[in-house]
Amino acid sequence: MLIHLHGVRGSIAAPVRNEEYRQKLHGVLRHAIGAKLSDPADIDDFIRALPMDLRYVFGGDTTCVSVSRGDGLPFILDCGTGIRSLGDSLMNGPCGQGQGEIVIFHTHTHWDHIVGLPFFKPLYIPGNTIHFYSPFEDVETRLMRQMLDQFFPVTLESTLSKKEFHPMDNKPITFSDGTIVDFHPLRHPGGSFAFRFRRNGKIFIFATDAEFTGEDLESVGSRHDFFHNADLLIMDAQYSLDDSFSKFDWGHTSFTMAVNCAVRWNVKNLVLTHHEPSYSDSRLYENYQQAIEHKNLMKVQKPRLFIAREGMQFQLGSEKT
Ligand SMILES: [Zn+2]
Ligand SMILES: [Zn+2]
Repeated sequence: MLIHLHGVRGSIAAPVRNEEYRQKLHGVLRHAIGAKLSDPADIDDFIRALPMDLRYVFGGDTTCVSVSRGDGLPFILDCGTGIRSLGDSLMNGPCGQGQGEIVIFHTHTHWDHIVGLPFFKPLYIPGNTIHFYSPFEDVETRLMRQMLDQFFPVTLESTLSKKEFHPMDNKPITFSDGTIVDFHPLRHPGGSFAFRFRRNGKIFIFATDAEFTGEDLESVGSRHDFFHNADLLIMDAQYSLDDSFSKFDWGHTSFTMAVNCAVRWNVKNLVLTHHEPSYSDSRLYENYQQAIEHKNLMKVQKPRLFIAREGMQFQLGSEKT
């Protein structure tokens, strides 16, 4: 199972602004002076040695993650602005010839999770079939509404792909490649759902737009069994602990609580995502380091911690994808 992150920003797209770009340039050049960089052949090694917040941009696109299927085409989680670039790359394969079959899961339909759909090119290609899965029964109406002519020049009904909507009930779904998918409700304004993917003994869970608190840690062994023993958990960690106190009930989790949950749930790898749009890359890197310190204070080996950034990929198991 190959999991690929296409959009990691929470709430609204947040491109790098000029001021932050200049700060990054300053940082890089200071390091170059320190390293006495003079030979162009050393540039790649120099870049590899930079701190993470100078080496990368974490990314401004909103939520979109793909999960490889055994048969090549991906499952897609959410249609944030990150789905635009995913759609462009899918156009190089069967989706570009009108032979694509795509499955999209919706955690919920807040804007940051659906606004990329009108820019997803495979939607417009006749012959492609797009399957929409969600526990929300009225997803079709919600997606149609965001593309009414007051809001977008093309309506969903007039796009040329075939669209099939599949409301999910409590029974796990087994797809033709053997992937089993089920879901779990999350605390979030208007509701949201976590999805769990199981294939060849590996477990991947996607749980964003969720507010976990200390109470949830107490209820382990009951309703949170769903989250136990994941090989990879990508989880809402929008806020620092301080910010989470002033945003109680906003439907998101602090990165320290995300770590607490993952430790309690015996998760192997935890990816912190849905980054607060006002946080710069240096602030996100600081949060990430604090999350690592927090885990180290707990004196546990697992989980391995990652901070989500666009383009990041995780391979679970050795199967070909
Ligand atoms: Zn969101
Ligand atoms: Zn939301």
